[in-house]
Amino acid sequence: MIHIYRTPAAKPVIPVISEYLKSSGLLSGNVCCVLPTGRNKRSLALRFNTSEKSPVILSIPEFNSFLFRTEKPVVPPELRHFFMRQAADRLSRDEKLALFKRTDPDFMENFITFAETGSAFFRFFREIKGELITAEELAKHALYTDYERQTRILHALWEAYTGILGANGLCDSSEMFDNPQFNQFFTDRFTDYVFLITGFLTRHEMRTLKTLSEKGSVHLFFHFIGDKTINHKEIEETLGTAVPDDEPAAPTGSIEVIETGSRMEEYEFITEKIYETAAKGVDFNRMAVILPDEKMKAYFIENDIYNLFNITAGTDGTYSEIYQTADIIRKAAEENLLSGGLIGIETMEKLTAQPFLKKITGFGSLAERIKDLIGMKRLAVTFDETAGFPSVRKVLTPFFKETHTTLTDAAKKLINLAEIFNENAEDQREKQHGTLVIKELKRLITVYAPVMDIFPLHTALTQLMGALARLGFHRPGGEVTVMGLLETRNMQFDAVFIPNMNADVFPPSSDKDLFLNTEIRCSLRLPTFLDREHLIKNYMSQIIAKSKFAYISCISRDKGSSYRSPFLEEIIIKRRLRVRPYSSSGFRIFSTTENGLRLYEQTSFKPDAGIAGKLKKRGISATMLNDYIACPYRFYAKYIIGLKPAERPEDSIPPYEYGKAIHSVLENIYSAGLPETAEELHGRIYSGFLEAIGKFDAYRVNPLEKEQAEDLAERLYLFAVNEINRFSEGWRPKTEEDELEAKINGMRLKGRLDRTDENGGKTAIIDYKLKTVKDFRDFKPEKIKDVQMPLYALLFMHKHGHMPDEILWYDLKKEFRTVKAFDVSRMDEFREFLEEMLKRLADPEQAYPRTDRQSDCRYCDYADLCGRS
Ligand code: SF4
Repeated sequence: MIHIYRTPAAKPVIPVISEYLKSSGLLSGNVCCVLPTGRNKRSLALRFNTSEKSPVILSIPEFNSFLFRTEKPVVPPELRHFFMRQAADRLSRDEKLALFKRTDPDFMENFITFAETGSAFFRFFREIKGELITAEELAKHALYTDYERQTRILHALWEAYTGILGANGLCDSSEMFDNPQFNQFFTDRFTDYVFLITGFLTRHEMRTLKTLSEKGSVHLFFHFIGDKTINHKEIEETLGTAVPDDEPAAPTGSIEVIETGSRMEEYEFITEKIYETAAKGVDFNRMAVILPDEKMKAYFIENDIYNLFNITAGTDGTYSEIYQTADIIRKAAEENLLSGGLIGIETMEKLTAQPFLKKITGFGSLAERIKDLIGMKRLAVTFDETAGFPSVRKVLTPFFKETHTTLTDAAKKLINLAEIFNENAEDQREKQHGTLVIKELKRLITVYAPVMDIFPLHTALTQLMGALARLGFHRPGGEVTVMGLLETRNMQFDAVFIPNMNADVFPPSSDKDLFLNTEIRCSLRLPTFLDREHLIKNYMSQIIAKSKFAYISCISRDKGSSYRSPFLEEIIIKRRLRVRPYSSSGFRIFSTTENGLRLYEQTSFKPDAGIAGKLKKRGISATMLNDYIACPYRFYAKYIIGLKPAERPEDSIPPYEYGKAIHSVLENIYSAGLPETAEELHGRIYSGFLEAIGKFDAYRVNPLEKEQAEDLAERLYLFAVNEINRFSEGWRPKTEEDELEAKINGMRLKGRLDRTDENGGKTAIIDYKLKTVKDFRDFKPEKIKDVQMPLYALLFMHKHGHMPDEILWYDLKKEFRTVKAFDVSRMDEFREFLEEMLKRLADPEQAYPRTDRQSDCRYCDYADLCGRS
């Protein structure tokens, strides 16, 4: 007997089912309720008093595992790919080529790549078996001869796979579709089955419902918005009954749509609206953030400074510290293997930044050592260079003493890591977390016991970490639920916040179907990609329709994002909504007020009464003055607050290192006496320069950098020619790296001059430049961007008692000649300009606004801070 109902799509469904159970006398242990999600199960269970009898409530996978029985044990999912690989080995070369598009032995050896293709096979077989499509039927619907051949090979592969399973006393879970057998103990127990159906049903599921209805009563509740789909029509045909139509209801809740500049702004918008909605009387626990893209969960975990959010179903295993550390070790192991013993410095740096490793003595010093090595422009290190401390050795040696391993051995290494995590755990929650990981790894050791294959360590770790990623960890948090769209099925909240409504995120693109394209799906009457898209949009429409307040945001296309989601466009048009831009152009911070949370923008630092004292203490350099001219905001962040971008490993050598190399080579050459010919001078510069540059990793690993350095070394011949000409004119290098300092307007100004030349009582001050420089033309105080050389001339005069006769740059980029950097006759004007500027700098009333010239922002390290990124 089948009873079919359709619940109003814009109303909560779980109360409807609970009422039905109560009013129909179905509160009994003989009744089985099957619901789509764990939340639905909990929500229904909470509706019964402890005094009431309750039906048995199951999720769909639980129901399937109890209802069906198989002749042989089902192969654990983790082992399926290994048996599939054995089966694939039995295919001929041509068959492998037809299925995998390649035959190279590497492909079969690289287990992870193979397993990815293998997963597509399992998806394919699961679907066609679940839809009761036979091999012959599939071949009949083939649109191309090639495809027909491929399906034959696929079935041969499947036969070989199930044959191997059988020989090992196992079977595949999808074999229950071929010959379903009910577990009689289970079916004997129940008289009634209640199902809530929100998505598509496979033919196997329809067949199961029909068979169950012959043994007992089946009560079906359909919950979806809009017209019936092809799938509903097929259900009607199979079950011989009709799915009722929905009664359209006018939307009641309010919807606000805004366009932001970034994900972070969407986060800020949501936080702001949560407090606003709470002020309207909505409880925090009746609010939910619905994520079309679950990757955004990371933002809610990382930025939850008000402890507002709780992440449903806990956070997945990838957020666990053990997983993240193992992931970096995996990368290090891969680099170690591929480079023959070197690990990237960035990988080592990330490893030392792992919170639980930081607690272990030795890792702090290692982090310092890595920082120094980055400062020395190193790009890679050997394991021995980094593991000088016994504690570091204890953690890392198991992973680096060998490059290949079995899955069970790799699992033991991870258990060792998890035990170290537990030893350093700070609270019970962390300990539980470590214990859960260890338990899962022990299970994997049992599962993988029959697999004797030896893998590269990183491959073995990748395989194990797939299972760790699926573990859920409880994460204590606030009252506002953050959940993925699929988890929201059949739920209802008073206020929902939906970020990320851009076309590239929602509706999500489905996995590429390797073997069943849309034409074949249509011909076999299977759900197509459009049907799946329709379903996911239906889930989103339901959650919006059931809420009183919906706040939807997307990132503006002007900020480099994709278009608004077509789903959002549809809502905007249907509900005649106005899209409001979220104003944000500056430094945005949170601050609390009496009424709750407010946001405000700060595009300038506030006046600093102590600025003069701070500047006097630290002294002023030419670079500081140049930064102040370029952008007062950057000046303040960099020199007064002291925010510095961290040194990053780079696979190129910074220009100042080239300058330093040339500098020290010349100092060595000239201190031993002046060479007489350009050839002699160039020969010595060439070898000295390449020797100095050759010490950088970037020179060794980056062919482009090597070529550039060698090209510069060659072209320094022009420099040598120019130098010999200068010597013949009578110029002689006098000092290298002259430290200059003077007090001007009460401020200590300082600098280091690259070189001073003298010629019969005349002096030239020189700075080497590895960038294009132009001859000095005119001094215009309002246009000056670089004060270095006139400032050095002033400081030179303070130290040596006379003004230099020439102020020069040495062009080491293009023409390799000296270029006039400033005109000595304009020094009085410059002095006036400088004094004025020093006064402004020390003014306690001044704010520090961002520059109006956006061209200065192009390569600025502070763009993230000021909001111009
Ligand atoms: S990005 Fe532009 S405005 Fe911002 S600190 Fe840098 S230079 Fe100043």
